[in-house]
Amino acid sequence: MSNNIADRLSTAYHQLQEFMQQQQINRPVSLIAVSKTKPLAAIAAAYQAGQRDFGENYVQELQLKATAASDMPEIRWHFIGPIQSNKTRDIARFASEVHSVERAKIAQRLSDARPEHLPPLGVYIQVNISAEPTKAGCLPDDVLPLAHVISQLPRLALRGLMAIPTPARDGDNSASFAAMAALSSALQQQFPMATALSMGMSDDWQTALCHGATAIRLGTAIFGTRDTQPHE
Ligand SMILES: *Cc1c(COP(=O)(O)O)cnc(C)c1O
Repeated sequence: MSNNIADRLSTAYHQLQEFMQQQQINRPVSLIAVSKTKPLAAIAAAYQAGQRDFGENYVQELQLKATAASDMPEIRWHFIGPIQSNKTRDIARFASEVHSVERAKIAQRLSDARPEHLPPLGVYIQVNISAEPTKAGCLPDDVLPLAHVISQLPRLALRGLMAIPTPARDGDNSASFAAMAALSSALQQQFPMATALSMGMSDDWQTALCHGATAIRLGTAIFGTRDTQPHE
């Protein structure tokens, strides 16, 4: 299994590098390995192969894995799942970055709970870019007011925006990525430090990169298909 993961990682980085060269993308892009539902052994295999950024969707899983990964000192956990307000404390303790902040109350709680001995928690505002009623994220009009709140909170560092557009398999989703790029420029007019754009998954990372993504989140491409759904 470990060889398999190392191979997939190396393939993913090669494809990323090749695509960036081809498209003349010169900004730094990070690859987050989304390890939700995967065992610690899979994470250890990826870490062994040099991977440092990992994404998790479920707070309890993050807590268990982060606690068990004490022999992987350079690991950075990205929390990318829905946030309930009673779970903010563990996210603030274990994550380096949170990609799924969508309201002021959650931001406030994360700031309050961020331990003093850690650097400020990196925050991405999640945007419901296709404005689907069932989807997570704030509406585009709410981004600037929420960015203002986050920028005032002492234990948070505003990084930028995140989105999960409708999957590419359900039709061309490039308009959503383009809308995110426009929103990101508007945000940077007022918050020049908020340059990050977290978008693109195993099926659509190329499209995301063409529209300014600075962090892509790959699960299946690195760890294979997910067969279990954990419960919280
Ligand atoms: C699961 C998940 C991913 C990874 O999806 P793949 O299609 O397996 O690459 C990325 N981002 C979020 C928010 C996810 O929940």
